[in-house]
Amino acid sequence: MPTSLFKDAITHLDKAAKFADIEAESLERLKYCRATLEVSVPVRMDDGSLRVFTGYRVRHDDTRGPTKGGIRFHPNVSLDEVKALSFWMTFKCAVMGIPYGGAKGGVMVDPKHLSRLELERLSRGFIEQIVDFIGPDTDIPAPDVYTNAMIMGWMMDEYSKIVRQYTPAVITGKPIPLGGSLGRNEATGRGVYYCIKELEKKLGWTPEDKTVAIQGFGNLGQHVAALLHQDGYRIVAISDSQGGIYSDSGFDIPSIIHTKNDTKRVRAVYCEGTVCEVVEAKQITNEELLELDVDILIPAALEDVITKDNASHIKAPYIVEGANGPIGHGADDILAKRDILVVPDILANAGGVTVSYYEWVQNKSGYYWDVDDIHKRLEKRMSEEFNNVYNLMEQHHCDMRTAAYVHALNRLGQAIEAQGTHTFFSEEVLA
Ligand code: NAD
Repeated sequence: MPTSLFKDAITHLDKAAKFADIEAESLERLKYCRATLEVSVPVRMDDGSLRVFTGYRVRHDDTRGPTKGGIRFHPNVSLDEVKALSFWMTFKCAVMGIPYGGAKGGVMVDPKHLSRLELERLSRGFIEQIVDFIGPDTDIPAPDVYTNAMIMGWMMDEYSKIVRQYTPAVITGKPIPLGGSLGRNEATGRGVYYCIKELEKKLGWTPEDKTVAIQGFGNLGQHVAALLHQDGYRIVAISDSQGGIYSDSGFDIPSIIHTKNDTKRVRAVYCEGTVCEVVEAKQITNEELLELDVDILIPAALEDVITKDNASHIKAPYIVEGANGPIGHGADDILAKRDILVVPDILANAGGVTVSYYEWVQNKSGYYWDVDDIHKRLEKRMSEEFNNVYNLMEQHHCDMRTAAYVHALNRLGQAIEAQGTHTFFSEEVLA
């Protein structure tokens, strides 16, 4: 039977609801998406032909504020996936106490096969189709898989042209000269790093004693690796889509980032200035990386990499989820039984949406903050919410993912119930 990502996603609700302060009716409401839009986007290609692309935008819940979530360009985009991603955004914003609901969008396309001009026509065409569905006070998109600041710039420009008003707050993750925020690019990696620093404080370990493996060495993986390396953590394994490398003594991360961005390959190197030398390192597969005997494992690439099949082979006592959904259905229980602490994605990788919120606030106020200000605000927010979730985990003797859902459900429940409930209206009728 085909599995539904959205149905899997909502299973977390019933598990967390028994510890949360939320009425059954409010919980039921969160099992549905508020609005779903399917569009077709005709694009004139460079050779003169016309191609039509299918796209979606889904708003899951807007009780706590306008909805927020990225736009993904990927051949495997489906309505079911976009619904699940919009659901996670509702919970991510609620965990972080950001006044947003959740949304997501996507277009079924392989952008690697489009020219720059075709990509621009598609981006602008998609906005034309969803223009009535989004807005700075209704639904605010952002970048996601295979979309970036340049695409956000085109989309903001298209929206502004259609509504005849410069509207930077309609989209976040924009280029800095078009109203983007300083610190947005590294925000998700920083958020993951701040979660590890909180664990460090709680459990009283010394960075130099801890080994780390990171799967995925893109935006997120590189930023978290650089920050941990700076603090003295030993990053012993890293990988990208081509495979990984391992060294017991740990890698010189700035040198590897330099080479990766130059040659597009993860290689063990040591650099003096711009001169880099390849050094000895064992080659490993992505599957082997996950099962290494390290202290901290950071999946920072794809969803569903830790499954029922390999969960019992994971040796790291701490997993911090950088990617969205790297632990598949059924694997959580196996990890929990083995006392592996998982810092869940809806908390650990929420640094990105938090700084997106700061971008929106700056756009709306027309006043821009410096980068230290952004980092400090993010650190304070991540630390507070990490501790809120950790305390709930201890209070209810549950895993940290369930605790994060409890925290979010408490906030969502309060907001939904403040709009009126069955009990409230029944009492009024009976009075
Ligand atoms: P990215 O495209 O910059 O990097 C992805 C990395 O994963 C690349 O190094 C790529 O080579 C590697 N990769 C791809 N396939 C792989 C495979 N099969 N095995 C191992 N590595 C593989 O993306 P990113 O922005 O770093 O995002 C990574 C993850 O974090 C995604 O799941 C994304 O949804 C999630 N995330 C990112 C942000 C953000 O702001 N960047 C925010 C929230 C969540």
